[in-house]
Amino acid sequence: MRSMGERKLIVLVEINKRLCKDCGYCMHFCPKKILAESKERNSRGYFYPELTDPDACISCGICATVCPEGAIELPPKGED
Ligand code: SF4
Ligand code: SF4
Repeated sequence: MRSMGERKLIVLVEINKRLCKDCGYCMHFCPKKILAESKERNSRGYFYPELTDPDACISCGICATVCPEGAIELPPKGED
């Protein structure tokens, strides 16, 4: 049995690419620089962000906070 200190909450960044307007805030402010512009456009013609290195995400929530379109969420996925 593991102690509480060893449990890690897994939070994955969820990007609703349809809502993105490619302002670039999330990519600019991510402290780990792991959000990059997609090569494809969304249905509205914008390049949306993609998570380039999910393992490096520290679940800080900055990307979700700065997104003016509410296109990013950090729903808890469980614990490992
Ligand atoms: S939660 Fe933080 S580290 Fe993870 S992608 Fe968003 S801004 Fe970057
Ligand atoms: S902050 Fe939001 S609208 Fe701006 S590029 Fe990122 S996901 Fe798109």
